[in-house]
This record gives sequence, C-alpha cells and structure tokens, in this order.
Amino acid sequence: MRIFDPHIHMTSRTTDDYEAMYAAGVRAVVEPSFWLGQPRTSPASFRDYFDSLLGWEPFRAAQYGIAHHCTIALNPKEANDPRCTPVLDDLPRYLVKDRVVAVGEIGYDSMTPAEDTALATQLQLAADHGLPALVHTPHRDKLAGLRRTLDAVRESALPADRVLVDHLNETTVAEAKDSGAWLGFSVYPDTKMDEARMAVLLREYGLDRVLVNSAADWGRSDPLKTRRVGDLMLSEGFSDDDVDRVLWRNPVAFYGLSGRLSLDVAPPGTTHQGNSVLRGGE
Ligand SMILES: [Zn+2]
Repeated sequence: MRIFDPHIHMTSRTTDDYEAMYAAGVRAVVEPSFWLGQPRTSPASFRDYFDSLLGWEPFRAAQYGIAHHCTIALNPKEANDPRCTPVLDDLPRYLVKDRVVAVGEIGYDSMTPAEDTALATQLQLAADHGLPALVHTPHRDKLAGLRRTLDAVRESALPADRVLVDHLNETTVAEAKDSGAWLGFSVYPDTKMDEARMAVLLREYGLDRVLVNSAADWGRSDPLKTRRVGDLMLSEGFSDDDVDRVLWRNPVAFYGLSGRLSLDVAPPGTTHQGNSVLRGGE
C-alpha cells in the first residue's frame, strides 16, 4: 500500500514516527503551516518556521525515504493577533519556493472579521501564484463554518476545484461536495472522523476528489491513521485500486495542481547546514 498523507505536522513528530510511517507505506507527506499551540509574537517567528518547513523538515523526512512538501500561510487562529498579521506581507516570497504546493492552512477558527480578511487575502495570493489552497474548516459550529468558507471561496478569484476543504465530517460533506471543492477528512484517535465512519462516507459519497489525512500534530493524534483507513477499506470490500486512489492518486492530483510536486526522494545528504539527525557524532 503506497500512502500520501496530505496533511500532517511532522515538526511535532519524532524520528520514530517517520520510521513507523515508512514501514506502514507512507512515501509522501504535505506539512501545512499552522498554529504551534504557543502563540507567536512576531512575523520573524513565522519566518523561522517557514524556513524549517522548507529546509530542515524535508531533510529529516528524506532520511526516512519520505518526500516532504509544505503549504505556507498565516493560520486562522493567529489571523486574529495583530502581532502576527504583518506576516501576510512576507508570504509572496515563500509562495514562489519549489516545495510549496499550496497556500494553507487558511480558513476560519472563530469566524471573526480579522479571519475574513486573512482568508480573502490568502485566497487571492493563491490565485496570483497559480497555487491551490488548503482550507481548514472550524471544529465548532461546523456547518455554519463550512457555509461561510464556501462563500469566501466563491467570492475569491480561486476556482473551487483548486480548493481542498479539510476536516469534513457527516454534517458538512454533502455541501462541500456540491461546491466542486476537493474533500479532506482528518482521522483522529478520539474526535472528528474515525476509520469506520470514514469507510461509510466513502461508500455513500464515492472516492472522487476525496483525501484522507492523519492531521497528526502536537495534540493527541496518530500518524498511522492513513494506513488504518486503508486497512479498514480493504476489510470492508474496497479494492486495492480504491485504496490507492484515496491514499495516493487523489492527493497527487490535488497537490499536482501546483505544478511543483516532486515525489522522488533525493538520496539524503547526511547534514543540513552542517547539522545531522544524529546526536553526539556522525
Ligand atoms: Zn493541521
């Protein structure tokens, strides 16, 4: 089983996770830039993080045979912090980088006017840079959040078929599908979707434009959830080809819209800017 996790925050994960992911079949990941739990206090803090998503993290992933790309944005939560919003002016110089395959994650957290502005600005940046967009939908008040998200996309210059609407569930999937957007589902240990509910939705809504991710981060989450969905699909009668479509070909097709996806893992160098993943020697 070959697996592309289209939404995972590897910065928060260990080398054990990379090893286990490779053993489970993961060969490619996209790491969206997001909120780190601890509030940032300046745009400089974002720039160091973006540089890490473009430098250190792909280097680390390559040590374990995994192709790493990222998406760059001001995340919805920190869009409300005036100390952070000036980073919007820095985004254009990141959005031209080779391994940036979308603008994201953008979208709504609490649905504030500041979030409206950041979302509209960044949808326009995606259109201007020929990139698709990864749009997070809120975890509270999901259907209202989805509707407001789809309205923002309709009002933007970015066509819905270049937008991946993420963190969908039973309450939001139908309207998201009708919009023409790509459909993202995050499978977590306790909350949001689980494997069994995911299989039900795949049966009901089909496999077209559907992506499944672990969204693993610094919270309780599981970087092998993609594999667990694949295994459950097979045990419930989906074919190998169905699994390959959801876990590999759909994410390749979506992020391929950037024209920048490069799935060959370069033979890893042993150091990145003089630093290795080893401790205490080579
Ligand atoms: Zn995320």
